[in-house]
Amino acid sequence: MRATELDAVAAPPTAQACALSLVIPVYNEEESVPHICRRISEVLAAAPEPYRASYEVLLVDDGSSDGSFAACLAAQRADAQVRIIQFRRNFGKTAALQAGFRHARGARVVTIDADMQEDPADMFRLLAQLDAGYDLVSAWRVQRNDPLSKTLPSRIFNSVVAGVTGVALHDFNCGFKAYTHEVVRDLRLYGDLHRFIPVLASQQGFRVTEVPVAHRPRRYGKSKFGVRRLGRGYLDFIQVLFLTSYLRQPLRLFGTIGTLLFLAGGLISAYLTVLWFQGQRPIGDRPLLTLGVLLLITGLQFVSTGLIGEMLRYSSYHPDDEYAIRRVLEPPQPPLTPDE
Ligand code: UDP
Ligand code: MG
Repeated sequence: MRATELDAVAAPPTAQACALSLVIPVYNEEESVPHICRRISEVLAAAPEPYRASYEVLLVDDGSSDGSFAACLAAQRADAQVRIIQFRRNFGKTAALQAGFRHARGARVVTIDADMQEDPADMFRLLAQLDAGYDLVSAWRVQRNDPLSKTLPSRIFNSVVAGVTGVALHDFNCGFKAYTHEVVRDLRLYGDLHRFIPVLASQQGFRVTEVPVAHRPRRYGKSKFGVRRLGRGYLDFIQVLFLTSYLRQPLRLFGTIGTLLFLAGGLISAYLTVLWFQGQRPIGDRPLLTLGVLLLITGLQFVSTGLIGEMLRYSSYHPDDEYAIRRVLEPPQPPLTPDE
């Protein structure tokens, strides 16, 4: 790797060099890449200002093992706005999006899946909502053209996430979304968190909305996400709930649970103690005793976990993490007097 390339990796560009960055995660999509890139060039050639002359396409090759990378290179030859990020191996969709976000130079960012299940032409309806003051606009696949094994779990997922988090969207996990530069700058994505991007953004105070879009069946290649992911999905959800609500106050969560358990254990033990003094012995062989002791110990453990959480929070404290500023308005500067 040459020094200039190294620099580019170490310090991703932050300046907004163009109006729009299109980020496309690509994993084994050799047939789809030419189609999506051609469609994007076509749509942007006829785009309204400021997007027409000022955009970039970021293809993130997430360690594909087929001819996807060659297809990306061909797309770059056909359209000079195409940039390619190639991963050394498959890191997953979340990582691909995060890499795209870090390298995006556009004032606005649109993510879209490579498989052409959504039409890039719909992006202007998403972008229009950014003009209306929203920070993140998610596409809502009203008529989803996927097998039932995907749509049914997804329906349950969407209603649970919306219900629990209070973020009122119908379709959290659509790959087609539009963001302001601030959102992609501030998101911290890892693991499989891409499914919860609207929740994470909303937690940071960004304004989130959705726009219905058309959805087509996949034409080329295979879906990368099958039923297997469901098993882990609930853990991801717990992770998000924790990240968005209790990360800031771990003792609130662990302390509350711990106190309740400890109280229950205390009551049981007190009851058995009274029995013992009344002469109802032995109590040592009663299952209730085991339960009481267990509750006391687990309760204490929960409280200590909360305290350790608070210690971690204290030692990793950074003032910028404590709030999210939308804007700062300074008073107009008084004119300088001559002798200053
Ligand atoms: N993808 C990726 N890395 C992965 C899996 C998927 O970059 O490990 C990309 C994939 O190439 C596609 C997008 O993520 O552009 C969505 O994947 P897919 O269409 O398989 O998901 P589905 O629409 O079936 O949920
Ligand atoms: Mg798809």
